[in-house]
Amino acid sequence: MTPDNLSNRISNVLRRVCHAAMRAGRPSESVRLVAVTKHFPVSVVSEAVGLGLRVFGESYVGEAAAKRETILMENPLSSVSWHLIGHLQRNKVKKAVAVFDCIHSIDSIALAAEVDAHAARAGKVQDVLIQVKLSSEDTKTGIAEEGVVALAEQIMSIHKNLNLTGLMAMPPFFEDPEHSRPYFRRLREIRDALGSRGIVLTELSMGMSNDFEIAIEEGATMVRVGSEIFGSR
Ligand SMILES: *Cc1c(COP(=O)(O)O)cnc(C)c1O
Repeated sequence: MTPDNLSNRISNVLRRVCHAAMRAGRPSESVRLVAVTKHFPVSVVSEAVGLGLRVFGESYVGEAAAKRETILMENPLSSVSWHLIGHLQRNKVKKAVAVFDCIHSIDSIALAAEVDAHAARAGKVQDVLIQVKLSSEDTKTGIAEEGVVALAEQIMSIHKNLNLTGLMAMPPFFEDPEHSRPYFRRLREIRDALGSRGIVLTELSMGMSNDFEIAIEEGATMVRVGSEIFGSR
């Protein structure tokens, strides 16, 4: 893809983010674009950094670590941040804490404890989101809705090296993005219910290429967009 082409695609997505925010009566700055670069070579990330993108989502710890090194060397002065959006295996936690500014995929009490322990050792407060499983499809990771309160309470009360900022979810894929809306709304309701228990979370990571505008209308503060910017993998 030529840079001009990538530039147009980024502008187009950012414009759609703005319009969706306006429709929802929200300031466009309330939505952050997480550009999903998993499976794309680091040259593509470089191009995107050159065009102004600063937040990248990756699904695999090793792949992200290598890209981060390269980008850091090429752009020592620009603050690029890396978000883990894929499932985190227990044996990758130490490296994940070293690489990622935000981990979207905390989905168990044990994993939270592990990330907290490694963050403490690294002298870091790790931003995290709880990934919620909103459908019974067994291919989807995330904690079941019934477990969210206990996990959030544990993180807030005993994990001093975790900064819980919000919730993440991935609805099943629908051709018609309107079908995702009830899932997005549900995630917002779960977030609001936590708020009334005194656990105030600001971030909702929801919406992908196919449905990010609907997600924004339902309150998304981070949209994870890959193919709509970078093409198909
Ligand atoms: C790959 C991926 C995305 C981006 O998907 P696109 O359809 O390419 O926008 C978003 N979130 C997660 C968790 C992903 O794995």
